[in-house]
Amino acid sequence: MNAIIISVGDELVLGQTVDTNSAWLSRQLAAAGCAVSAHLTVPDDQRAIERAIRESIGSCDYLIISGGIGPTEDDLTRQALAGVMGVPLEMNERWLGQLREFFEKRGRPMPERNRIQAMIPRGAEMIWNHAGTASGIRATIDEELIAIAAMDDLYFHIGTTADDRKSQIANHRCEVFVLPGVPKEMMLMFQRDVLPHIERRGGGACILSRTLHTFGMGESAIAEKLGELMTRGRNPSVGTTVSGGQVSLRINARFQSRAEAEAQVAAAVAACHERLGDLIFGEEDQTLQEAVATLLRERRKTVVTAESCTGGLLAKFLTDVPGSSAYFTGGWVTYANEVKAAQLGVSPALIEQDGAVSEAVVTELAQRALGRSGADHALAISGIAGPDGGTADKPVGTVWIARAARAEQKSEARRFLFPGDREMIRDRAAKMALAMLRYHLLGRPMPF
Ligand code: AMP
Ligand code: MG
Repeated sequence: MNAIIISVGDELVLGQTVDTNSAWLSRQLAAAGCAVSAHLTVPDDQRAIERAIRESIGSCDYLIISGGIGPTEDDLTRQALAGVMGVPLEMNERWLGQLREFFEKRGRPMPERNRIQAMIPRGAEMIWNHAGTASGIRATIDEELIAIAAMDDLYFHIGTTADDRKSQIANHRCEVFVLPGVPKEMMLMFQRDVLPHIERRGGGACILSRTLHTFGMGESAIAEKLGELMTRGRNPSVGTTVSGGQVSLRINARFQSRAEAEAQVAAAVAACHERLGDLIFGEEDQTLQEAVATLLRERRKTVVTAESCTGGLLAKFLTDVPGSSAYFTGGWVTYANEVKAAQLGVSPALIEQDGAVSEAVVTELAQRALGRSGADHALAISGIAGPDGGTADKPVGTVWIARAARAEQKSEARRFLFPGDREMIRDRAAKMALAMLRYHLLGRPMPF
């Protein structure tokens, strides 16, 4: 069982609105065992919508369309569907009555142009909208109509013979659902009227997904460790994505029964843990700061920060987590050298001698932050975020990070060279400081 999703709207094609509907629909469909084979995004243009529908109906069991059913002239999805079906639009009296009532309740006459929102192609069914004025549409497109659409659509003939097409569409039936573009209305209608239909039809596989997150190693190093787990075509599949310096593993399993999918996903997750060990800091929505927060809470320890180039970003990350007062005591943003000296007592002579971005200064920042607070751990960051200020020995991206602990004599300081622009360098520096603390709390050496 598979689906194609079409999103309609000029604003989507122009990139002014991000198409969140398709992403949400894909996740819902996958969870219901319906694989999604394509997302198409088309402008508010009747021919473009018709073409997308024709192109899709021959190769999916479900076609889910969102958008273009509003009351204005640029809302053309109804007309396009009727065009493909070769039927006129007809007034649905039930929904027209509902629309009249809707406007009456608000003490306004119904604008003439809202009437179109109660029109559906002949032979289609109206879907009640519990959250807005646009009725949805459900239509069944049978083999005969698909064959006509295939003849009309040049796309089908590229690399495909007429016989191929005939065998593909024999006995094929496509259920089309047209939903509102407004995300809240779309979600409600999908859950009430589309999902039960898909679940009833059943017969599809169960698709389950899990996401595991790592930080600190590049995608190719992670891929090397995962080895054959990432072989294409495997089920469950393991793929990687990169975002914000994190490499995430996406595990997808597709099996006939839910029990089997669950068992296979669990086995794949275990295999990833075995290969990557503590490189994996969390799953699904969990962030690196949440992982560190959990470790600090479990150990009943606190942390203080002293930051220069990250300007408080590390403190921000540590306080992103609700209840952060349990483990975060506070921090200093000692940006200027004078403030490093005045606020934390770093020796101006040391800054003069080694420079603010140096092992000696960052270590002093961490030690003195620890000394001036009651915290158990301290993290300090000093670096060159650019775009200016780099030199031959300290190019842009050079960052020193120090970690100190009350229970230890010696602190740990490391020099990093982060790639990217100012925003990326600052983000990676703050995350790397979190990673240093995480490995220390785990009692393990950093593997990178
Ligand atoms: P429409 O039903 O096409 O008039 O859409 C109404 C509004 O819903 C649009 O103005 C967008 O703000 C929003 N919208 C429509 N389609 C999408 C989509 N695919 N993803 C996110 N928002 C959307
Ligand atoms: Mg629109």
